Order: sequence, then structure tokens, then C-alpha cells
Amino acid sequence: MTSHIMPTYARLPVTFERGEGVWLWDSRGDRYLDALSGIAVCGLGHCHPAVSRAIADQARILVHTSNLYSIPKQEELAKTLSRLSSLDSVFFCNSGTEANEAAIKIARLYGHRRDIALPQIVVMQNSFHGRTMGSLSATGNPAVREGFAPLVEGFLTIPFDDIDALHQVATEHEDVVAVLAEPILGEGGIRIPSTQYLSQVREICDQNNWLLMLDEVQTGMGRTGKFLAYQHSGILPDVCTLAKAMANGLPIGACLARNKAAEVLTPGTHGSTFGGNPLACSAALAVIETLESENLLSRATRTGNYLLNQFSKKLDANPAVKDIRGQGLMIGIELNRPCKEIVMLALEQRLLISVQAENTIRLLPPLTIDDEQTELMISTTCLVIDQFTGTGPR
Ligand SMILES: *Cc1c(COP(=O)(O)O)cnc(C)c1O
Repeated sequence: MTSHIMPTYARLPVTFERGEGVWLWDSRGDRYLDALSGIAVCGLGHCHPAVSRAIADQARILVHTSNLYSIPKQEELAKTLSRLSSLDSVFFCNSGTEANEAAIKIARLYGHRRDIALPQIVVMQNSFHGRTMGSLSATGNPAVREGFAPLVEGFLTIPFDDIDALHQVATEHEDVVAVLAEPILGEGGIRIPSTQYLSQVREICDQNNWLLMLDEVQTGMGRTGKFLAYQHSGILPDVCTLAKAMANGLPIGACLARNKAAEVLTPGTHGSTFGGNPLACSAALAVIETLESENLLSRATRTGNYLLNQFSKKLDANPAVKDIRGQGLMIGIELNRPCKEIVMLALEQRLLISVQAENTIRLLPPLTIDDEQTELMISTTCLVIDQFTGTGPR
């Protein structure tokens, strides 16, 4: 069968027809444990009843008006996000890459208002910020940028988790206006920086009047055990971007900002036709209500710690396992060799995972995963790792 879809994805040979919680059922009726949550999107599991109800209810009342008019659900969601993030205000869009475009535009305007003609944004090696030209140019993965020159100018790339490199930028460059970084590299292989890193970055930003802009598209919405990953380090960014898990599968993104960064965008400087429409905002409000009412942040912390502990125990004897790391329900298991094929082995065992940065297995299970499902995820993951490393090249 010839497909009429542009081949931007090498798709796995499976078609899902139905989902509930951690489970997905394929077209033959086989059940899979989704340990990837649709790439960190379905944080409450598939078709969470509270979200499905909110979508259905809102769809009957009003789906879309436009940002020419006031939208009460958008106001309510912005107020809730502001309470949970300690930031002041929100711009709504429809994806992670768009949220980062808004952040980049804020940094540019902020720079121009300080009379910096060619403002530069510091970004990190192995980062991922999205696929549109601005976010793509900010992305520190050459494979993502390959072939799309000329790229958008104004980005300085330094190694992640390297505070000396940032100090050096501060002494060598006068045009820097912001730092854009993920608190944990997601696509880049679940790289967790040293404990002091974010607060040290914050300090350098303060000393130089730079904006600290955190891309929490993957780490946000409770994934790491706090609503936002920066809350582990007790700092506040000036700008923070969100998307993926915001509405458990409905497209929505947000760019949050504080203080001076919140005052940069004014009428006419930015916009979105769909951004923050009543349907997406109702779903996002239901997600946040559920995170709070079901205590999912502490559950993510508890399950995440248990996972790290169990994986360390069970994989200790396997010399091909190089590192096991994670925060909350964002887990990486690094092997000493490239392991893309393990995704297919896992699929055969009815487990959905991904491999990042060539050699790191990534698990992003729903925050709602229960104890029994957690045990199944652990045993199946260990089984496929042992299968792969036992038979793979040495
Ligand atoms: C997925 C991701 C993006 C891009 O989000 P899209 O919704 O696919 O545009 C940006 N930043 C990070 C950290 C991500 O994980």
C-alpha cells in the first residue's frame, strides 16, 4: 500500500485503536503497556475520564472563538498556571516549538529594548527545542539542523551542564540577552545536570541582565515529581515554555513569563489563531485539577524512586548497562552500545519505549501508573535489555 503521508517518521509496524490508562490496544486486539505516554503527552494515561469529560462538555458549548475576544477558560488556565509556576503571565499557542518561538521573540524584543542590535541567545549542545526555523536553529543537535541552512542567526551553543563555558560567554560576548535550556535534556538522552547547575545559571543571568528561559515542554506538568522541574532547585526562570502533557493529548502550548520578561510582548507583536481556545483550555484545566486531586506529583516521585532502585538492583549484573538515571517519571537507562533495535524487541513484548541519543532507553510512563503495572514495566524492560545485550554485538 502506498502511503500519502510524507515520510517524516519511520513508523513502527503497529496501529493502535483504543487506549485506557497505561494501556493501548492494537488493531488485532493485543494490549500494550505504554511506557512513553505518547512521548510525554498523556501524563494522566490514555483517555483519562476527567479529561474526556471536559473535552466532551466543552465541545457541546463552544469550541473556538478567537483571541479577538476574551476567553474565560483561557483566563482561568493562565491564573492556575501562574499560581503553580510563580510566574506572572502566559501566552498560549499550540505546541512546544511554538512556545519556544514565543520565548525567542521575547528575548529578541528584550534585547532590542536595551539597544542591543543583534541579540544572542545561549543554547546547549544536545538540546531539543522543536522543528520550526527558530526552535530548530536553537536546537543543539546537528542532525536536526542538517540540511536546513540558512538557519536563524543569534544563537551561541555551549556544552550543557558546563558552568565555566557560560562564564566564558559572559566575558567574551556583549550581545547576549538570554539563556535557553532544558532543565533535563529529554530528546538528548535524559541528561540530568549537577544539582547546583540551574541556580548557578540563574546567578550568571542575574549578574549580566540576561533572561533565563527554561524549556519545560517535556519536564513540565509534573513529569519530574514537581509541577515544573525548576522547582527542584528553588529558582525562578524569567520565561518557561510548556506543551506536551498540558492537555493530555489535545494540542496546546504556553510561554510563561515573569517581571520584565512578562511586559515585552504587546498588541501586534505576537499572536496565534488557535492558541488557548476554549476546548484546549478546558482539557488543560481538567489535567491540572486531576494532577492535584489525585496527588500525582508525589506519586511520580515515589514511583520514580522505586523504578531507579529496582532497575539498579536488577540490571546491576549486566555489564552492558552503563548508567541508570532519572527524576520522577523521566527515566534513562544508558547502554554501552547503540540500541535502537531494542524498541522493536520491546514492541514484541507489548511494551512501548524509545531510544534517545543512540544508546539510552527512555521511559516516560503515565503519572497514574499503578504498582502492578510498574512491576510489569520493570520486568519487561529488564527482559528486553537482557535479550538485547545477550544477543547484540559485543
Ligand atoms: C517535544 C519537545 C519540543 C517540541 O514540541 P512540539 O510540540 O513537538 O513542537 C520542544 N522542547 C522539548 C524539550 C521537547 O521535548
